[in-house]
Amino acid sequence: MGTTLQLYNTLSRKKENFEPLNPPHAGMYVCGPTVYGDPHLGHARPAVTFDLLFRYLAHLGYRVRYVRNITDVGHLENDADAGEDKIAKKARLEQLEPMEIAQRYTNSYHDAMRRLNVLPPSIEPRASGHIMEQIALVREILKRGFAYEVNGSIYFDVEAYSKKYTYGKLSGRTLSDLMANTRALDGQDDKRNPFDFALWKKASPEHIMRWESPWSVGFPGWHLECSAMSTKYLGETFDIHGGGLDLMFPHHECEIAQSVAACGHDAARMWVHNNMITINGQKMGKSLGNFITLEELFTGTHRLLTQAYSPMAVRFFILQAHYRSTLDFSNEALQAAEKGLQRLLAAKKTLPHLKPADKSTLDVSSLAAGCRAALNDDLNTAVALAVIAEWIKNINAVKAGTDALTAADIEQLNADFTLITSDILGIKDDSQATDQKNLSADLINLLLNLRQQAKSSKDFATSDKIRNELAALGVTVKDSKEGFEWSLR
Ligand code: ZN
Repeated sequence: MGTTLQLYNTLSRKKENFEPLNPPHAGMYVCGPTVYGDPHLGHARPAVTFDLLFRYLAHLGYRVRYVRNITDVGHLENDADAGEDKIAKKARLEQLEPMEIAQRYTNSYHDAMRRLNVLPPSIEPRASGHIMEQIALVREILKRGFAYEVNGSIYFDVEAYSKKYTYGKLSGRTLSDLMANTRALDGQDDKRNPFDFALWKKASPEHIMRWESPWSVGFPGWHLECSAMSTKYLGETFDIHGGGLDLMFPHHECEIAQSVAACGHDAARMWVHNNMITINGQKMGKSLGNFITLEELFTGTHRLLTQAYSPMAVRFFILQAHYRSTLDFSNEALQAAEKGLQRLLAAKKTLPHLKPADKSTLDVSSLAAGCRAALNDDLNTAVALAVIAEWIKNINAVKAGTDALTAADIEQLNADFTLITSDILGIKDDSQATDQKNLSADLINLLLNLRQQAKSSKDFATSDKIRNELAALGVTVKDSKEGFEWSLR
């Protein structure tokens, strides 16, 4: 642990100092969602992880360009080069335009991200808006001899690439592993080798999402968009490429091969991967019945949930683990996170109102120093939250009078606590949303209590006025023995 940020680079398999190519600028590309369904628990972890990195880099003084894409074309079922496009399939089932599906689920993704207090990226490019860039990239790879055309489709030639470069260096898979483990070609396939992957696919007659290209009317392969869009917005070499561990193979491995084939060198200098969320020890999957959308989580409407969990409890839960560890979801773990969050928010409220003393018995600099050391050590939020938990105890001890802080120390601690928990960790009090609903109810009750008073003092003009004006606003008031009842129309 030092004073500079160290990140674990999946490519070199070790922690490295973060030294951007062009300081104070820092470029980060993260694979975003394929927008064909509601955002789920699996989307929350990479989003929160890279939001934290985005916030922390900005805190360290970097001017970060954070690019997170939207995949709205080319992601075929089972991540293979065959099968229906995920978005087109959903569109067919719902009798909508594919772009209506993409828009609908982009909106719900954004809504979920806002609730998780995930900041929007600097640029959010869509694959369908970058077809020309993808065609140009295919052209370049073809020109350099690392791709071939069959019947209007273009495939990446892994064998030719492997003669010059190392395919599989990110995931550690070797070409001979791939040869042994990939399924045999089924005769329908145009590929020379089963481990080759599509750069461009000729569209079959029923395929709706299609574009003109020099080779056929078709669509780009899934891996291509990230290579094309990261280069476009961050340059041929950039600092960080992030994503979930599930994307490491084949998606990120193919991205590396494409960039190296087109430019002769790696595009991303550091690869950062977050580990996965399991549910009660199991991988999450639709067939396992443990597929929980964020909406279900926030409303408590999935059969595996014993209650609703606030977006902030989910964020806190994710931050409690180091991003490279697996994180197991269970009601107990979420409830524990909720309690931890409440303790943190309560301490934050208490802090500015502590009674100052003449002398401090605690060293307030240890909060910022401890959290910074933890975050510099490959974003260790688990350790940072442990440092914060220690300070929550200290704050309560000062409140109880067993410890003491001077006015200057209280002010410093308050500033550091807010900076770390709100600005860097992105933890806020999100009970506001519910509070707003409660506020309306409280205001109606307040008015009706005033009406009761008016009635008791025989001021019927005022009492009628309140009732009539509330009625005009849609609030129906009924007098009862106990006083009043009301309902919203
Ligand atoms: Zn990607």
